[in-house]
Amino acid sequence: MTLRQAIDDASLHIARRDAELLLAHLLQQPRAFLLAHPEAPLPSALQATFKTLIARRAAHEPLQYITGNQEFYGLDFHVDPAVLIPRPETEHLVEAILLWATQFHDEHTLQIADVGTGSGAIAIALATHLAGAHFYATDISTAALEVARHNARTHGRENRIEFLHCDLLEGLNERFAQGLRLDAVLSNPPYVPADDAATMQPEVVHHEPHTALFAGADGLNIYRRLIPAAHAALRSQGLLVLEIGYGQRDAIANLLTGWHNVRFLDDYQGLPRAALAQRP
Ligand code: GLN
Repeated sequence: MTLRQAIDDASLHIARRDAELLLAHLLQQPRAFLLAHPEAPLPSALQATFKTLIARRAAHEPLQYITGNQEFYGLDFHVDPAVLIPRPETEHLVEAILLWATQFHDEHTLQIADVGTGSGAIAIALATHLAGAHFYATDISTAALEVARHNARTHGRENRIEFLHCDLLEGLNERFAQGLRLDAVLSNPPYVPADDAATMQPEVVHHEPHTALFAGADGLNIYRRLIPAAHAALRSQGLLVLEIGYGQRDAIANLLTGWHNVRFLDDYQGLPRAALAQRP
């Protein structure tokens, strides 16, 4: 069987693009290799393995959990079912922080917390672009923190990111008591309303971690606790950046009553996706 035949067969069961990416993953080659060598033979042992990968994808397992990686902000991240797969929309949070950070030059080591870091994608992308900043990346899941630590090592950022196993910002309480105040708190928390599970893609609802997705009946449970916690943790004028879900803009604006410069950034579909606010 040739590579082209293997892809043609797989395309009967899964999207052709996914078939190509899975075969490229199996061969440890870039996808372009398949186009360059369509008549190359696929050894029978690999044919059998390819079949199992196709079956997993046909059963709605996300491609990224099968290949074990996802690109985010130009970097490659290891992912497994302990972590949410980084989404392109979340790159807006990274951009917002990078834009805000330009005003500080190098005179000040920014202290930035990433709450619910998951794969570590946000903190690691920021650490890559903010040479001076120090990061606190928290998660309630030890399995997620293992993935995040692995990614930080891969990208050589483990020296500037402290990983903390805790709820929200609680792992920093001792340091807050000693006077630490943060320059920025950012988070892509769980924000999906529980009832949405019925209408979500099986890739998401049957495979991604529910603790990273769902946050009570209205999806706002984490924001209700995180916004006051961030208020206590930030210095005056410190920045809060939150990813928000569909239709949550007004509720978030309400929770941010009393904060300064509250604004929202739209995602690639033109929907409000990030909330920004400064602590008075
Ligand atoms: N945007 C994600 C989704 O719709 C959810 C991410 C989150 O809850 N932080 O699948």
